[in-house]
Amino acid sequence: MTRATKIVATLGPASSDPAVLERLLRAGVDVVRLNFSHGTAADHIGRAQLVRDTAERVGKPVALMADLQGPKIRVGKFVDGKVTLKNGTPFVLDAGRTTPGDAGAVGLDYKELPRDVKPGDTLLLNDGLIVLTVDTVRGEQVHTLVKVGGVLSNNKGINKQGGGLTAPALTAKDMEDIRTAMAFQADFVAVSFPKNATDMEMARQLANVAGESLRHKPAMIAKIERSEAIPQLEAILRASDGIMVARGDLAIEVGNAAVPALQKRMIRMAREMDKLTITATQMMESMINNPVPTRAEVSDVANAVLDGTDAVMLSAETAAGMYPVETVEHMALIALEAERAEDLQLDADFTNKHFGRIDQSIAMGALFTAHHLGCKAIIALTESGSTALWMSRHLIHVPIFGLTSKPGSERRMALYRNVYPIQMPAHTDRDQALAEAERLLVKRGVLMPGDTYAITCGEPMGYPGGTNMLKVCRVG
Ligand code: PGA
Ligand code: MN
Repeated sequence: MTRATKIVATLGPASSDPAVLERLLRAGVDVVRLNFSHGTAADHIGRAQLVRDTAERVGKPVALMADLQGPKIRVGKFVDGKVTLKNGTPFVLDAGRTTPGDAGAVGLDYKELPRDVKPGDTLLLNDGLIVLTVDTVRGEQVHTLVKVGGVLSNNKGINKQGGGLTAPALTAKDMEDIRTAMAFQADFVAVSFPKNATDMEMARQLANVAGESLRHKPAMIAKIERSEAIPQLEAILRASDGIMVARGDLAIEVGNAAVPALQKRMIRMAREMDKLTITATQMMESMINNPVPTRAEVSDVANAVLDGTDAVMLSAETAAGMYPVETVEHMALIALEAERAEDLQLDADFTNKHFGRIDQSIAMGALFTAHHLGCKAIIALTESGSTALWMSRHLIHVPIFGLTSKPGSERRMALYRNVYPIQMPAHTDRDQALAEAERLLVKRGVLMPGDTYAITCGEPMGYPGGTNMLKVCRVG
């Protein structure tokens, strides 16, 4: 059985060795995430090349995702690198301070903070481990009381409970990083902390302009990690190709307990709108240090699969952990097992669904036919990959093979749930293309004599959005 759910792995010191990267890809990584919060442009360009070379050697399509840093809402540095904050003591966050901080006050990287907060607000530092209550705002100084103390070190992040920080989603650094990402034709660009659809439209515009000379247009992923993004979800989805359920920052802003229900809602909504989803952060956190996951992590990955996510993501587990390869192996097994337990509701999915486009109707027709006939495979001859995308928005236990002559489409489809991209030379003759497609799948051992499959294509051939034909065939 093939695994339908895809795996996104973050590259870092633990995985940048060519031999380790090769093992990661063989263990099941489909998308490699480059985290632009760390490293220089040259580092990213080098790593992107390494990923492309390794994928070529392994012989599988692997997509690259450039994850932008976004606004840095952080405290400054301390004289001793860190301080210990005690419960009930005052602590000042001072945007005007230029000297290193101490146990009473610290400077701010984010100078707008005094204008974004008011007395009574709760600020969470260092991923929510430290909690401060705002007492008063005096000029550039935010006076707080330590509610939950602990060790606070240099440049730790600040979140405001309930959201409301005004920092723009795209910083000058992000704009520069978009250009770097387009230089290596990143297949996906993930935007951190978007508040609304405009943030996504702006990022897409910048990426399209930066990619123009190479005629490259990346798919845009909105990281949902701000309170403000939740009521804007539908508009953000419309402006994006997909979303990341970015549970790390999201949990701090909306509260841990709200995240599981939000995850389910986001994934359901994205699928209904023909968009992609990545479920991220702490999925296999304990494997940073341990060779096996906890029971809770196993359940978390399995539940994300059952929620219908396209991909599950690894962050520090593969970037800086001790067991990057084992983590991917475990994740792949958990996903596979969860998929077997999926409750298929294809017919219910189709009720009340209207299709205005010919290509989309053909995609749905293929899905319906393959499901009820019990086909061995669905083959989509596709230029842009959109036929495969529409098909993959519905749970079905028939694998979808996206055959394309476009390397960019091939890599992008690597993220789509239950889609297996394959490169095939462009054809102008329909019958030749159909025959070659069957040959490719027989060669891969997917199809055998006597097997039935459904295949879609467009006539004339070679035009994106031109799918207008469905054929059901039996291998002779
Ligand atoms: P990050 O995003 O790892 O870049 O912070 C993911 C998250 O917040 O969950
Ligand atoms: Mn985040």
